[in-house]
Amino acid sequence: MPAPASAPETAVDTATLAAWDRTHVWHAFTQMAEYEPLLIERGEGAALFDTEGNRYLDGSASMWCNVHGHHHPRLDRAAREQLAKVAHTTNLGLSNPVTVQLAKRLTEIAPAGLEKVFFSDDGATAIEVALKMAFQFWRQTLPAEPGRQRFLSIGEAYHGDTLGTIGVGGVARFGSIFGSLTYDAIRVPSPALCRQPKGTPPDKACQTALAEVAAVFRQHKGEIAAVVMEPIVQAAGGILVHPPGFLRGMRELTHEHDILLILDEVAMGFGRTGTLFACEQEDVAPDFLCLAKGLTAGYLPMAATLTTERVWNAFLGTHAQRRTFFHGHTYGGNPLAAAVALESLAIFADEHLLDSMQPSIERLHERVAALADHPHVGDIRTCGMIAAIELVADRTGPTPYDASEARGMQACLAARKHGVLLRPLGDVVVIMPPLCVSPAEIDQLCDAAAAGISEVCGG
Ligand SMILES: *Cc1c(COP(=O)(O)O)cnc(C)c1O
Repeated sequence: MPAPASAPETAVDTATLAAWDRTHVWHAFTQMAEYEPLLIERGEGAALFDTEGNRYLDGSASMWCNVHGHHHPRLDRAAREQLAKVAHTTNLGLSNPVTVQLAKRLTEIAPAGLEKVFFSDDGATAIEVALKMAFQFWRQTLPAEPGRQRFLSIGEAYHGDTLGTIGVGGVARFGSIFGSLTYDAIRVPSPALCRQPKGTPPDKACQTALAEVAAVFRQHKGEIAAVVMEPIVQAAGGILVHPPGFLRGMRELTHEHDILLILDEVAMGFGRTGTLFACEQEDVAPDFLCLAKGLTAGYLPMAATLTTERVWNAFLGTHAQRRTFFHGHTYGGNPLAAAVALESLAIFADEHLLDSMQPSIERLHERVAALADHPHVGDIRTCGMIAAIELVADRTGPTPYDASEARGMQACLAARKHGVLLRPLGDVVVIMPPLCVSPAEIDQLCDAAAAGISEVCGG
C-alpha cells in the first residue's frame, strides 16, 4: 500500500464526500443499499446546514439528544476551556475536578436518595451498568438473595443495542434476530393507551397493567432482581405514552416486593417531557436512574447511572473480598464531556428553560392536534417537547400501511424538501426538536411534517 499523502488542506467537494460516504461508512440503523448521503457540515441553534449551504431545522434533535441548540456559545466555551487543561484522563482509580463536580451536581438535581454516580459513555452502557449492579447487589447484600437473577421489562421497550440491553428490550424489529444470544427477561405488555382497545379509559389501562405486574411478582417470588422501564414515554417503541399513575404504581409494587427499580431516562431525561426528569411527574425516586442523550446537551458521548447508598454499600469490602463492581468503559467520566454537561445544567438554571419552553410545547401540541382529522393519521401522541403522528392506510380499523411501503420514512424524506430533518419510528412521524426551539420554528416543523405526510399519503 502506498504511504498516505499528507492531509489536503483544501475542502473535499460534496460529490466526492458523498461517494466516500456510500463506499466506506456503515451507518447505524440504515439500509446501506438504499442510503442517500446528506452531509451536515455545521449547526446554529435549532438549524443544521449541509455542505451545499442548505438549511434544515433539526426536528429530531440529532437523535433526541440536542437540548440548547447547536454551536451554543456557552457550551462551546466550556469545551474549549476544558480542552486547554486536559481532554481525557481515566476514571479507573483516578479522578478529575470537573467530573467530580458533575457527579455532585447530578445528585443535587436527581430525585432524593440517588447519591452515587457511575459514569459510562452511552445510553446502552448506562443500562448495562444498572442491570449488572442490580444483579450483583442481590448476591452481596445481607441477607443475600442470589436467586434474584431475572429482570422484568415492558413490551416494546427500548434500552439500547448491546446484547445485555436487547435482553430487556422488546422492539421486535430491532432485537429479535439476536434473541438466542441473550437472556430472556419477563415482559409485561406496554400499558400505553394506544395499545389498548379503542376507548379504554386511562385509569383502567393503568390498573390492568399494574394488576399484571403484581401477578408476575407473586408468580416469580424471590426471582426478580429489578424492573427496568422507560418512565412516562416509551420512545423508540413508537412514542408510547403511559397512562397517569403507572409509574407511581410500579414504584409502590416494587417497594412492596423489595424489587429494585431501574428507570431509563436516556431519552426523557433533561427536560424532554417538560420536567427535568420524567419521574418527577409522578414523584418517584428509583433505585437506579440511567441518563445519557441530553446529559451533555447533545455535544459529546457521556452517560451516568445514579444509584443509592444501599446499593453502593453492598459493594464495599477489601479488594480480596471481590465485592468490587468489575465493570468500566475507557472513556467513562470524560472531563471534556463533563465540562459541557455542567455548563448545560447551568444554562437550564440561568435561562429557566423548563418554564421558557412552555409556549413552544403548547404550540407543538396545538399544531399536531390539528392533523388528527387527516384521513391517513391514525393517532396523535404528545408529551412535553415530543409529538408523534401515526400514519395508517385506513383510519377505520385502523389498518396499517404495508411496512414495505415505508410511508413514515417517505413522509420524513418529503419533509426534508421543506427544510426540516425528521426521523420516523416505522410509520410514526416523530417531532422531537431541541428544547430551545421557538414557536415560529415549531410552526415550520409542523408545516413541513404535514406537507410531507400529504405528499406521501394524499389527503
Ligand atoms: C437511545 C436510548 C438508549 C440507548 O442509548 P445509546 O446512547 O444509543 O446507547 C437507551 N434507552 C432509551 C430510552 C433510549 O432512547
